[in-house]
Amino acid sequence: MSDIKAIDKQYVAGTYARFPVQIVSGKGSQVWDETGKRYIDMGSGIGVTAFGVADEEWKRAVTAQLDLVQHTSNLYYTEPCARVAEQLCTRTGMKKVFFCNSGAEANEGAIKAARKYAAEKKGAEHFTIVTLQNSFHGRTITALAATGQEHYHELFQPLTPGFVHAEAGDLAGTVALAKEHRAAAVMIECVQGEGGVIPLDKEYVRGLADFCAAEDVLLIVDEVQTGNGRSGALYSYMTYGVTPDVVSTAKGLGGGLPLGAVLLGEKTQNVLGPGDHGSTFGGNPVCCAGALSILNRLTDDFLAGVRRKSELVFSTLTGAEGVESVSGLGLMIGVKTRKPAGDVVRACLERGVLCLTAKDRVRLLPALNIPEDILREALDTLLAACK
Ligand code: PLP
Repeated sequence: MSDIKAIDKQYVAGTYARFPVQIVSGKGSQVWDETGKRYIDMGSGIGVTAFGVADEEWKRAVTAQLDLVQHTSNLYYTEPCARVAEQLCTRTGMKKVFFCNSGAEANEGAIKAARKYAAEKKGAEHFTIVTLQNSFHGRTITALAATGQEHYHELFQPLTPGFVHAEAGDLAGTVALAKEHRAAAVMIECVQGEGGVIPLDKEYVRGLADFCAAEDVLLIVDEVQTGNGRSGALYSYMTYGVTPDVVSTAKGLGGGLPLGAVLLGEKTQNVLGPGDHGSTFGGNPVCCAGALSILNRLTDDFLAGVRRKSELVFSTLTGAEGVESVSGLGLMIGVKTRKPAGDVVRACLERGVLCLTAKDRVRLLPALNIPEDILREALDTLLAACK
């Protein structure tokens, strides 16, 4: 069989509703399919290829490490792993990093750290994690339990116990739920990504952080999608002016290779000891070499550029024909369109622009270094598809 789409359909588990496009190559914010058709990539592999496809600096870093050693296990030290942890800590004020391979795993690690902290500090009954309605934290059984959207839960009962879901924005309600359940932690996404690219209210997040600090309930911020420059800050919580106790991240961190991280703050830095948690691939030197090339370039100047491009997207789309509203932060943008989002995304695909959806919105997660002319071209196409 030579038709890749047919082979894929026959042999790959049917968990994804793929678009009828086979991507064979790319450069920066453009990719090409098997027929040679060019697309502007406004999804960056769901927020992963932070500096675009086949980025030269990232490739150099990754291939240089491949020439040295591709994997060692966590029984030994490697420089890229130590250097990424050093950068993550010195640039955030967090104290230690646990490395894994994906967003769901990062959340698993964050939840384990929170439960152990609370059990040791307050007692075994303090295991509940409060998360928010409409949140998304991943697909493993525990990350699904954390996810505050019932429809993801239905077919996979019983999920990990000890999760309750508060209404986003309702501070009194969230606090009451945390108190009622003697919560170990509250876990939030500052911008609910899969939930429709909806930023949380700043006062709400600050109020929550104050409550958590006062009651020694841990604040976990899921920065899987918002993190690593996507929000226009290194991590979105920085825009909110709060200090989390635990941060989970993945997606853009490795720039296209699987890398997740749990950042542990002042209180939680020593909670995971030898044997408490682990991952064969976590902190893989090739993935970490890629991550270093990403983090090195997420400078203040570069992040200011991300914010400028964000303003360009907001100002171009807000109030345009067929656009009802625009939400998001940085280059993580949700567009509520008059036409169904799926129809708009399909029309964009036909016209050579790859976009995503999140709930009822078109979601844009372009590479952080997308050139302005290509960004404008993609927005013109999107607007034409919205009419
Ligand atoms: N957390 C958030 C906020 C996400 O957006 C996602 C994925 O979209 C995840 C967790 C899960 O990440 P992964 O698919 O890498 O497990």
